[in-house]
Amino acid sequence: MRKVMSNMNWMILALLAVTLTAVAQQPASAPQNPQPVTATQPGQTAGQPSPAQSGQAPSNLAPPTTMDQVVDRVIMREKDLIKFLSPRTPIVETYLQNLQQDPQLGPIPQDDHYFLGRMDLSESIDRSDYLEGKGKDKDEGMEKHLLGGLTKKFKFQYQPLGFSWMIFADRNDFDRQHYDFHYARREFLGDVRCLVFDLTPRKDAGRGRFLGRIWVEDQDFSIVRLNGTYARPSRNNYYFHMDSWRLNLVPGYWVPAYIYSEEGDFTAGAKNKIAFKAQTRMWGYNLKVGTANDELTNIRVDSVKDDTPTAQDATPLAAEREWQQQAEDNVVERLERAGLLAPEGDVDKILQTVVNNIEITNNIELPRPVRTRVLTTSPLETFSVGNTIVVSRGLIDVLPDEGSLAMVLSHELAHIVLGHNLGSQYAFNDRMLFSDEGTYQNLGFKHIPEEEAAADKKAVEMLKASPYAQKLETAGLFIKALQQRAPSLSALLQAHLGNNITENGTVTRMAQLATSAPALDWNKLDQIAALPLGGRVKLNPWDDKVEIVKAQPVAITSARDKMPFEVTPFYPRLSRYSTASAPPATTAAGPTTTATAAHASSSPTN
Ligand SMILES: [Zn+2]
Repeated sequence: MRKVMSNMNWMILALLAVTLTAVAQQPASAPQNPQPVTATQPGQTAGQPSPAQSGQAPSNLAPPTTMDQVVDRVIMREKDLIKFLSPRTPIVETYLQNLQQDPQLGPIPQDDHYFLGRMDLSESIDRSDYLEGKGKDKDEGMEKHLLGGLTKKFKFQYQPLGFSWMIFADRNDFDRQHYDFHYARREFLGDVRCLVFDLTPRKDAGRGRFLGRIWVEDQDFSIVRLNGTYARPSRNNYYFHMDSWRLNLVPGYWVPAYIYSEEGDFTAGAKNKIAFKAQTRMWGYNLKVGTANDELTNIRVDSVKDDTPTAQDATPLAAEREWQQQAEDNVVERLERAGLLAPEGDVDKILQTVVNNIEITNNIELPRPVRTRVLTTSPLETFSVGNTIVVSRGLIDVLPDEGSLAMVLSHELAHIVLGHNLGSQYAFNDRMLFSDEGTYQNLGFKHIPEEEAAADKKAVEMLKASPYAQKLETAGLFIKALQQRAPSLSALLQAHLGNNITENGTVTRMAQLATSAPALDWNKLDQIAALPLGGRVKLNPWDDKVEIVKAQPVAITSARDKMPFEVTPFYPRLSRYSTASAPPATTAAGPTTTATAAHASSSPTN
């Protein structure tokens, strides 16, 4: 068991050095509301989180003394949130695993589905998809948008939007005319003390009304969690059960972040039409809504000075490298702007350390240092453009240890060392002018099979000369576990920008390492070949930054606890916004700047 723990702890240890100084600087208890409290400006819209109206706004009102007053406040805060989010188009990702019962391992994935799109939260809730062939149901009316799924003859169809519906309890009619509120109890969620209410739709409230429980924090009375379903579906329709969590990422607002859905059970004699688990994640709230036309008018002139030391023209090779770097920078910037690449951060430092370890022991000297970045999405994929290696959040999640991370990175490093450069066409800036939803159609970094084989060969060579040479057994086990699950995880294994790790259900990437690995044995509790999704990397839904989860590993007590590559419920530790723990909304040229300006210009008139 000790070995298991040390395996699971590798990233926490690696991160320790990086975060130690930051922790030391953090005050023991951060102030809740660092901004001065002023009255809400009547002219202000709820579109920007200004210090005046955020969080502090309710504290100007007298604290509620009866439960009825609390309910009024909850309703008011929910309407504020709907208004606050209405100009935004966050990214919404749903990953779903249909389940089958395995006598030894319990419910395991049978097949899977993946949805990725942008959600427009303005008038109603609408979405547009990044993936082709999805989201063509825009004209089918509100009822279908609201549903989790519908049965057509013998086939069950999932409606992508169905999973994201529970970001609000009821977007249009969240009030006492439609709902009865019953106070249940007080309860802590993480650091946040909550009041718990059960909500039932009133008799004549109509179809599709929320039925379940809400958790309300006890300072501003914002909803922080919703758990339940929608009442009275029509025939052949389903409303899924959902558990929906919000995070306090901007002052005064709790932003919808995670939704877990689950249906079906495997008790003896149960007859389910459907059995699945699904995770929905939202991020990119602070992304700018922009089109190609906006970008053309947004000309940057702040760094026009050429600071290269020599006044010479570039040699042909230097020019070629310049060109590649320009393509690389274009791609990185474009992906970040689309919300698909996390801003540079501490996770990159960990990945870069592993890359450095391989480089130094192999005497690799590159003209420019290798950079690493994290793709914000779940499907397991990697690619490289120029000297930047990109690894998806989902892939980092499921890797069991540092050796297997080295395996993943070494393949991309091999492409760079061998000069398999892709993407130089993106040095032409017109190729960056496409809508965010068109990212997957407009960018691609797939190598030909010969380069894939050559990169694998070179990668194994480099690994054998690296500090990870003695730690490749677990990497091989990871390949074996992936091989066993691959046929039922085609959506998770579908790469959208790089090469697939598998072809037709067979692992091709770095498959050689599996030959020297021990036998895969689910009953061996100290053998951790792959982890569940969501355990390692935490994505901030507001600014898209990623960090490593610092949770204590829980001891595994049966084979069913391993859940490799699987979806699990969310249980985030809730805490209130503080400047020390959460990055403020000032990071992009967005809301705070405008909000401060609006606030400053309106105060003299009051
Ligand atoms: Zn490759």
